[in-house]
Amino acid sequence: MVMQDRPKVVIVGAGFGGLWATRWLGNKPADVRIIDRNNYHSFMPLLYQVAAAELEPEDIIYPVRSILHKYQNVEFILGEVRGIDSLNRKVLLRDRSLPYDYLILSIGSKPHYFGVKGAAEHALPLRILDDAVQVRNHILCRFESAAVEQDPKIRQQMLTFIIVGGGPTGVEFAGALAELVRRPLARDYPSLDLNEVHILMLEASARLLTGLPAMLHDYALKHLRKMGVDVQLNSAVAEITSRGVILKDGHMIPSETVVWTAGVGGVSLPQNWDFPTRANGQVNVLPTLQSPNHPEIYITGDLAHVEQDGKPLLQVATVAIQEGEWAAANVLNQILGKAPRPFRFRDPGIMAVTGRNAAVVQLKGYAFTGFIAWIMWLSIHLYRLIGFRNRLSVLVSWAWDYIFFDRVVRLILPLPENEALEKGC
Ligand SMILES: Cc1cc2nc3c(=O)[nH]c(=O)nc-3n(C[C@H](O)[C@H](O)[C@H](O)COP(=O)(O)OP(=O)(O)OC[C@H]3O[C@@H](n4cnc5c(N)ncnc54)[C@H](O)[C@@H]3O)c2cc1C
Repeated sequence: MVMQDRPKVVIVGAGFGGLWATRWLGNKPADVRIIDRNNYHSFMPLLYQVAAAELEPEDIIYPVRSILHKYQNVEFILGEVRGIDSLNRKVLLRDRSLPYDYLILSIGSKPHYFGVKGAAEHALPLRILDDAVQVRNHILCRFESAAVEQDPKIRQQMLTFIIVGGGPTGVEFAGALAELVRRPLARDYPSLDLNEVHILMLEASARLLTGLPAMLHDYALKHLRKMGVDVQLNSAVAEITSRGVILKDGHMIPSETVVWTAGVGGVSLPQNWDFPTRANGQVNVLPTLQSPNHPEIYITGDLAHVEQDGKPLLQVATVAIQEGEWAAANVLNQILGKAPRPFRFRDPGIMAVTGRNAAVVQLKGYAFTGFIAWIMWLSIHLYRLIGFRNRLSVLVSWAWDYIFFDRVVRLILPLPENEALEKGC
């Protein structure tokens, strides 16, 4: 219930930063409005499993209203924020404006292509739910087309899947794709020679999973190669066309599928909203997470550029969650007349799964690999997923996959602008 005399806090984005900020302010002395263009929260760490036909899209999303109905002072608004009138303290939507005393912006990121020519036009991003369904459709369509293609050269191009970027998302997606091809698709397409399938991971640096200990990189590399993924390190992409990838050394790799997992940057809107943005679109913030020119505006999550001990914090959910809660606590400090406190990230560890029984985990300074890391990964992701129904559904899909080596969701779904379906499979 919104009351007239309480401070108004508007939170934009119901992702990890915005949602955790809202929960923190739940039932506190403020009127909170949270706005998102979708009425659901997406659990990004499992997005690649939707792309690899392992989970349904509904398994990784949850209605925002259901998450927040226990907070009397919180109202959800479905809408797209188009601008911010920081002078008059108003958030501008298509058909109305919302006043605020404090604003928390957590609108996430978009793929960052590092100036690679043709990447925005021809690569498939893996950033939001629609992207994952698009990637899944695209890959399944390539198999449908290859199954009836007589020309071996064209077939090879159809069956070459390039993943650009060897970070956690790229590594996880490559492993899941290799498993999809090896068992379920091998059964679905008996006429295809699966030796023709080429899953290629291109990483510009000399290592996978940069930032993790060398031992974890070595394990991931070895395991992916064992699964048949062709991992090429020190392979920088110069250009992506509709026919494939051109490397910096001029080598051309024909392919109809290039999935971009090489990096994300801030969304472009804040540049027009008069925030100090960096080359990658992230917004510079004060150590308290406040905007330098507006102490009543906080920026959190992927959108915020925050440095700790001389290094920028990663664009990961754990950072976004802690920043969201911290920004909310600082808003409350300001409401109570106290000074906002500088943010400090407590690193809970990082992990990536490379396939069945195989994962890498770094937790409190310890490194784990193999089955134990895989169990840790499964348990933590299941625990973090919002909603009992989603947990159960994901658990059932994983168990089915594990026991029967099968994926339940090999469907080519129509999307409003499904280029692959328009072209025909
Ligand atoms: C494929 C993939 C895998 C990942 N895996 C992991 C992982 O394993 N572990 C990990 O820690 N992190 C992982 N991450 C990173 C993590 O998901 C992000 O760091 C985190 O989601 C950032 O939180 P956020 O609140 O900044 O943005 P988001 O969670 O992206 O939320 C932004 C929200 O803002 C909304 N929005 C955007 N613009 C507007 C607008 N103009 N008006 C209204 N609403 C708007 C969006 O709809 C969205 O709900 C992964 C990311 C991806 C893409």
